[in-house]
Amino acid sequence: MAKPKKFNLRLMVQIFFFTLIALITANKTLAAAGMGIPFLSATSLHALCPFGGVETFFTLATTGFFVPKTQISAVILMSLVFLLALLFGPVFCGWICPFGAFQEWIGKIGKKIFKKRYNQFIPPKVDKVLRYLRYGVLIWVLTVTAVSGALLFATLDPYHALFKFWTGTVALPALILLMFITIGSLFVERPWCKYACPYGALLGLFNKIRIFKIRRKTDTCVSCQKCSRSCPMNIDVCRNETVTSLSCISCYECTSDRNCPKTETLVVQAAEKSPQLSIAVVAIVMLTVFIGGIFGTIALGVWDSKTNEQGSGGKNSGGGQKNRVKVLEEVHEKISD
Ligand code: SF4
Ligand code: SF4
Repeated sequence: MAKPKKFNLRLMVQIFFFTLIALITANKTLAAAGMGIPFLSATSLHALCPFGGVETFFTLATTGFFVPKTQISAVILMSLVFLLALLFGPVFCGWICPFGAFQEWIGKIGKKIFKKRYNQFIPPKVDKVLRYLRYGVLIWVLTVTAVSGALLFATLDPYHALFKFWTGTVALPALILLMFITIGSLFVERPWCKYACPYGALLGLFNKIRIFKIRRKTDTCVSCQKCSRSCPMNIDVCRNETVTSLSCISCYECTSDRNCPKTETLVVQAAEKSPQLSIAVVAIVMLTVFIGGIFGTIALGVWDSKTNEQGSGGKNSGGGQKNRVKVLEEVHEKISD
């Protein structure tokens, strides 16, 4: 008799955040038709991107200004995502990021076409070298943002392109990159996450220090390798006692709650003898911290996600700085065109 399919809680969470971001980006058009959602009306995609918080951090710390289009909301989201990564690793990538979900959903078509060959096309030696690429992207993005004071990466950002392609405001390089990633996802699972995402690169570092790790119990493991085969990031889980790979996105597909057939064999645990956390508990804590953090800062009056075109904000709001940011933003707009 076929085993009943396990409830896919992660898919529900991914659908929720994907729909939310799609609604936010569609809201301007909806508002023009008199159907806008008031809570979302003045919110921009960049103000809701936790990587925007990372990008603006240097400029904010040194000048008191946000890089144009970013806001305090992005810094709050960045802090919440870092806290979650410290607890559970990059759960943002595996559960919340709509661009990660998009690649996974395209990948389902690839799995149907290529079956077991899917996600196995790139030779391991080439794959190993390519995995360092995203650290180069991270250093480049942070450097150009700090030097220019503008979100130059937005001209290439495929996440932005996915949710805004129909508005006519997306730069051509970003659309081309989105097309390559979409086609690439038919052959390789999450190609952007694996090889190019600067935020994934940064969050991946938390896999070395996360409190709740993924542990394999060698006494009950039967070496069936289902954990390794189910890993979207091609991590050889069944050869490790603890998953510490920089590539892990904390999707938990490998665990006994999902694809490992042996109960309590691949588990989430702080230490070998400490209590095991089910994936449902991890999800509840994650959503409580993330959504609770957003509503908590709204209640405290700290949250602000209004569209911030001029790079304003902060205590040193001098005209000179405003002009510098404006000039750089105009350069940015020209590049985008
Ligand atoms: S899926 Fe579970 S039993 Fe199979 S190799 Fe991995 S940890 Fe061991
Ligand atoms: S090791 Fe497990 S949790 Fe990490 S990416 Fe692979 S399947 Fe997901």
